[in-house]
Parts: sequence; structure tokens; C-alpha cells
Amino acid sequence: MNIRQLFLQHVAQTSEAPLAIEISRAEGCFLYDAQGNKLLDMIAGISVCNIGHSNSEVIKAIADQAASYMHVMVYGELVQQPQVAYAHLLTQHLPPSLNSVYFTNSGAEAVEGAMKLAKRVTGRRKIFAFHKSYHGSTQGALSLLGDEYFRNAFRPLLPEVYHFRYGEEKVFAELDASVAAVVVEAVQAEGGVKIPPLGWLKKLEQRCKEKQCLLIVDEIQSGFGRTGKLWAFEAENICPDILLLGKALGGGMPLGAFIADFKLMKTLAANPVLGHITTFGGHPVSCAAGKAAFTWLLRHKNLVYEAAENVQLLLDNISHPRIENKHRKGAWAALQFESFDFNKKVIDQCLKLGLFTDWFLFASDNLRIAPPLILSKEEALLAANIIQQAIQIVDAEYDN
Ligand code: PLP
Repeated sequence: MNIRQLFLQHVAQTSEAPLAIEISRAEGCFLYDAQGNKLLDMIAGISVCNIGHSNSEVIKAIADQAASYMHVMVYGELVQQPQVAYAHLLTQHLPPSLNSVYFTNSGAEAVEGAMKLAKRVTGRRKIFAFHKSYHGSTQGALSLLGDEYFRNAFRPLLPEVYHFRYGEEKVFAELDASVAAVVVEAVQAEGGVKIPPLGWLKKLEQRCKEKQCLLIVDEIQSGFGRTGKLWAFEAENICPDILLLGKALGGGMPLGAFIADFKLMKTLAANPVLGHITTFGGHPVSCAAGKAAFTWLLRHKNLVYEAAENVQLLLDNISHPRIENKHRKGAWAALQFESFDFNKKVIDQCLKLGLFTDWFLFASDNLRIAPPLILSKEEALLAANIIQQAIQIVDAEYDN
């Protein structure tokens, strides 16, 4: 059996049609397959590899930390320098009330921890979430997920979770003093880079404050410069009570975090003690990698703006009557076609032409553009050229 067959047989599958490309290495904005083909990466591991693949400072931080120590004890007992240093650095770049970092293994675990924290702080049980939101695949995070098709097969899920339309006013009327938390994305990722109406998030924040309900902002996909700012919540001038980070947080290593004020966070330490515990959360190698990646990004902060410009350049150089809509926020964009079928054919054609992309979970007719932020002008034009060609090829064959 070749490696592809072994992959299909022994690595548990998440779909019936995985891409199953064997990757041999990744560097900058490119992935290389085992046959030596080069793929321009328009996904960045779903906004994980924001500073590009194989950054030498991140690799060095990983090697140095692995040589000093890896796992030594479950989370929270011992002073581990990489955790402390990264938590300190993160809090220097967040509003003062976001001063206590709980590191987890993944985004979904950060969501779980945040929901538990909101229940402990408020003594309430209800949680509000939004249609077309994705917060992870564990049972609690799945309860928040805004799509019945993905949720339904796994019932019973968490009780007292209520869904509202993203960007609609109805949520304000329903949000009363019985609600523990509202979990919201500042830009809806898997809805296809959806931006709420201006002022909606601010109003949500105000309403939460009035009712002493916690505002949990999920920046797991939008954080670390993806939206043209370091954090997407900055654009609306709001401040989450609990911020969720993941993906790019670990610089390519697994890491998540929920971040809140120390006064809130300490409710997890008592009555019961060990309110949230994890063996590997905040792994020292992940924290060292994440800190190196964030330090690199801070030193190259201009990339956040330049990447946004380059993605705009990319969009400006694609034009075709088959494109029904283009959305962009920073270095994050979506091209909408008439159907999933057409979009999938374009995606497959892009792959053949040397560009790696996919669709969005709740916007399957939208093609994803979320490259590493180090994408150069030349790479943006190359991407535009490939996508344009792919659309033309699919279009020519489509209705025949
Ligand atoms: N929240 C958002 C917005 C996400 O995009 C994701 C993952 O795609 C998650 C939460 C869950 O993160 P993880 O896959 O690390 O559990």
C-alpha cells in the first residue's frame, strides 16, 4: 500500500473526499507536495500560518525549548517560563482588563473554558450565539455552532443556548439579566468573511454591560492581523469581557487561550477548586513557538496593512461574470459563485494550476482567500492570475 492508501485506511477521516495531497515541506507562502509540485497557499492552514510557513525564528524557539524541557506537569502548577513570557507579551497588546491568560490546547477548549467561566462569574446558565458561527467541534462549542445540519446529529447538546441572526437587532430585545454570556465573532469567519452592520457590536457590548452579561469575542480565526488590525474587535472599538484566541496564537503549534480580567478568572480556582484543568494546555513548546511568531509579527506590523492591500490587489485583478460577490476584510476575502458545485470546480482547477484554496463551512459557494500575511505583491498577482484562469476554464466547460 502506498502512503495515500495508508492515510485513507488508518488515519480517521473527516469527509468522504479528502484532498489527500502528500505534503513534503512548506515555506513562506508555498506548500510542496511529494511529487515536487509547488502550491501557492491561499488558506494558511485556516488562518494559522499568518507569518508564513517555516519561519526561522519560530523553528529556533521550538528547538531551544524542546532541548530545555517539554511537558513537566499539568497546567497551572509549575512556573513555566514560556507560558509566563507569552501571557505577559499578549496582555501588553490587549486592553488592560484582558490581563489574565488561560492557555488551552485548542480553540474549542478555549470556548469550553470561557463558557464555564461565564457561568461561574454570573451564576447564570443561558448563552446566546449566532447563526452561521463556528466555535469548534466539542459538544459545548458545537452547541453554539450556528447551523442545524452540523448540530442536529449530536443532540442532546447543551441546554439553554439560543441562536440569533448575526447583525440583527432582535438579540438586543431578548438579552436580559438571565443571560450569562453572548458568544460572537467580530467578523464571521465560516459565514464567508461576514461583517456586521457598523455599530452593531458596540450596541451588543452596551447591552451586555447593562445586563451584566459577559461578552465573549471569538477571535480564534480573525486574530493576529487577519482583518487589517491586530484584533478584529479594535475596528469597532469594543472590549470583550472574555477574548478567545487560537490558530495563529501558537505560531503553527497547537495552542488556544481564553483571556479575561484576573478578578473574573480567579473564580475558576475556587469552589470548586480546579474549575478548568488540562494536561497539555499551554505546552511550553507551543508557548515558545507562539511567542516567537507574535514577536515576529509585532516587529513586522506593517505586514498587517500590506497584506490587506495585497489581497485587495488580488481581488482587483480577478473579474468574471460568474463572480456574484466579493467580500474582503483585511487580508481575508471571499469570492462568491452561483453554487457550491461551480465553486468546487474552480477550487479543483486552482489546485491543478498550483494554488491551494477551499470554501467556507457555511458559505460553500464562496472561495476562500486567507493567505499568509507575508504574501508579496508578485504572489498576490500570481494568485489572481491562477484563480482567473481557473474560473475561465471551468466556465468554458460548465454548461456544456
Ligand atoms: N472559533 C473559530 C472562529 C474557528 O474558526 C475555529 C476553528 O476553525 C474554532 C473556534 C475552533 O478551534 P479549534 O479547531 O482549534 O478547536
